[in-house]
Amino acid sequence: MKVLVTGGAGFIGSHVAHELIRQGDDVIVLDNLYQGHREAVHPDATFIEGDLADKSLLDQLFAEHKPDAVMHFASHTLVGESMEKPFLYLRENIVNGLNLLETAVAHGTLKFVLSSTANLFDDPERMPIDEQERIVPGSPYGESKAILERMLHWLDVTKGMKYAALRYFNACGCGLGLGEDHDPETHLIPIVLQVALGQREQITVFGDDYETRDGTCVRDYIHVLDLASAHILALRALDQGSRTYNLGTGNGFTVQEIIETAREVTGHPIPAVAGPRRAGDPATLIASSEKIGRELGWEPRHSDIRSVISDAWEWMSANPQGYGQS
Ligand code: UDP
Repeated sequence: MKVLVTGGAGFIGSHVAHELIRQGDDVIVLDNLYQGHREAVHPDATFIEGDLADKSLLDQLFAEHKPDAVMHFASHTLVGESMEKPFLYLRENIVNGLNLLETAVAHGTLKFVLSSTANLFDDPERMPIDEQERIVPGSPYGESKAILERMLHWLDVTKGMKYAALRYFNACGCGLGLGEDHDPETHLIPIVLQVALGQREQITVFGDDYETRDGTCVRDYIHVLDLASAHILALRALDQGSRTYNLGTGNGFTVQEIIETAREVTGHPIPAVAGPRRAGDPATLIASSEKIGRELGWEPRHSDIRSVISDAWEWMSANPQGYGQS
């Protein structure tokens, strides 16, 4: 299959693009390199540096390459940043996503996999969170993904677009020679490992008075290689219809447990201090992925928390300055 991967130079997109190529698919990566890295693009992928705001570029890309499917990762992805810059998220995630959808439909590309988010579930009634849970976006970022999911619904009804919306919980780990390299870094596991590398003095724990087993937030950490396999299974199943899945392990770890495991993996004391809560953080987020397991036979194989942290540690200690500067 020929697959257009937007954001294919970013953390999750690059892993999925590499895995597609490993499985024999043709991949076109479109990325503006705002957060992505040229070095993360597979050498056998066709790379186009460009922005989804550029409709004529999109038109040209679809006319020339005629992709069979789109996997859409290119996006602003930070909950906290979206609270400070709502227009950036509402405009770019929604308008650029709409540009992509409109161009895909115009060129007859009617298979689409959307990178969606657990930030659709700000006020869950049940834990673990399954696909029946009410959509209550927790931020302009979450809202932008909720709107893209609704657009896909209507394009299925009106244009026969077959889509998969994949809501992931905490993506982490790495593999296939790739890593996680955000600037600035805001995610727990890479920050903890930056402390172990001596790049930060300590980790600040955002809140230790939550109603959880040790007072710190509980999250469901899912290895990016498991996310990649879920994306590809969902892509191959689109012929049988559109689908929406929550992707996690069904297990949660506290911030303290992550720090403790990172101490064991790295042998570094990793000093931690308690700080105030971060705005918008729910106490606990755990996914039920029973549906994708039942329908597509997916199961996480790489996501035990020690493997996640040691895979990330292996890449970060080999590439302490991230891509392109090691
Ligand atoms: N966190 C923390 N200190 C940090 C970064 C994150 O205590 O420097 C906490 C954060 O409050 C959340 C968890 O770690 O409870 C995971 O945060 P991350 O930003 O990695 O992912 P999110 O859950 O926001 O998607």
